[in-house]
Amino acid sequence: MRIATGGISHETSTYAKSPTTLRDFENGLGQYRGQAILDRFAGTNICTGGFMEGAKKHGFELIPLLWTFAYPSGLIPHADYQTLKGEFLQRLEEAMRAEPIDGVLLDLHGAMVVEGIDDGDGDFVESVRRVVGPECPIVVTFDLHGNHTARRVAAADAIIGFDTYPHVDMAERGREAADLIVRIVNREVRPVMAFRQMPFFWSASAQVTSHPPIDEAFRLVFEVESRPGILSVTLATGFPWADVPDMGPSIIVVADKDQALAEETATELADWVYSRRERWYRQPPTIASALESGVAAGKYPIMLADMADNTGGGASGDSTEVLQTFIDRQLPDALVLYMVDPELANAAHAHGVGAKFETTVGGKSDPIQGPPVKGTVEVVALSDGKFTYDGPMYAGLTGELGTSAWIRIGGVNVAVVTRRVQPLDQAFARSLGIDCSQMKYIAVKSAVHFRSGFERLGGSIYNIDARAVHTHNFATLNHQKRRHPMYPLEK
Ligand SMILES: [Zn+2]
Repeated sequence: MRIATGGISHETSTYAKSPTTLRDFENGLGQYRGQAILDRFAGTNICTGGFMEGAKKHGFELIPLLWTFAYPSGLIPHADYQTLKGEFLQRLEEAMRAEPIDGVLLDLHGAMVVEGIDDGDGDFVESVRRVVGPECPIVVTFDLHGNHTARRVAAADAIIGFDTYPHVDMAERGREAADLIVRIVNREVRPVMAFRQMPFFWSASAQVTSHPPIDEAFRLVFEVESRPGILSVTLATGFPWADVPDMGPSIIVVADKDQALAEETATELADWVYSRRERWYRQPPTIASALESGVAAGKYPIMLADMADNTGGGASGDSTEVLQTFIDRQLPDALVLYMVDPELANAAHAHGVGAKFETTVGGKSDPIQGPPVKGTVEVVALSDGKFTYDGPMYAGLTGELGTSAWIRIGGVNVAVVTRRVQPLDQAFARSLGIDCSQMKYIAVKSAVHFRSGFERLGGSIYNIDARAVHTHNFATLNHQKRRHPMYPLEK
């Protein structure tokens, strides 16, 4: 059995100013071709790592084509996407010329937007379908934050989305996809899918799958998956910072042969979720009220998830409201993790450890990120930005934040970095010599994934809405293409 694999993976913020170019794909989790894909992802907790385990378990040959992932950011220029897609399809055709293939396993995100193509993933799956023909099974894994569309559902045989946030089940979903495609190829099952969209906004802070309220939704998803005739259920929470017609949460049910069962199950689940929409939307607190609650609770460190500047969602990572607040309040043992400011990182390296100089910190990418913080910075430590994730999310993968520095300004510690990589765990801070367990106040530019490595610190966590591009005040995003009505903006 020969199964081709790969993917072009991106979560696109149409609100982020910086386009996502070929270079960003090279600089993201990287661009790998052929055998290099298998060398890179063997034993890692991502979907392709799971595909590889499945290949080993079932004894099929995995034919790696092209795998690339850029960190979330702005629109992908049309020509750059065509270059990547063209190479993928060419490699697929070559693999098919060598010997027929029996199936395709795609590792995609689900919220990719290309200049002129609102449904990037749908376009990609459809293009793969055109090459392999109607009979060859295509099974796709998607992130929890996909903005799913009827187009991609029509083009794939089966879709399997993540069940966790932080996304710690990627390899597991990859194994599930591998198990399913083997059953399809062996004609043990014939999947059919039903798709339902739900018109509401799902707050990031209400998506931590190990906690209420969303844990209840996933318990139902797992119960439904165990019913006879159901092969897989995807509950996707959507990605609101994409101005596309299909933005929003959705349900995909994969059933064996029985379209009516798929349809009625999808309706049941979508009704259950949508009727509880008030539970999934939370207005986040301000910095001041979160700090007040944290101090009252007395559980340190008090962690502020500065989710409006979540680089993991494509924000630029240089918003300054939290840093300025920490300085104004003269908070002791406070850390901002991190500030994307290549100019300052380079200046810190030029000045050297122990140097003090006048400068500005952050606020350079877009006025919406707040004004730069002015003052004297002290250089505490320097780093080339290379580190290895502690996990569980991305455990064992290496990350690169580029030229980096630990600085202090107004008494507040700031990790200054060059690249926009979401701070998922403590490994990067540690590589600069920062001990997060010694901090009383930690702000991270992340919404939920940081829980992978920070929840174990055992303090109190607040998802705040500070001034930055990815605000949770969804009305201010002024979407032009989304469906109407959507709760809570319209009744
Ligand atoms: Zn996600």
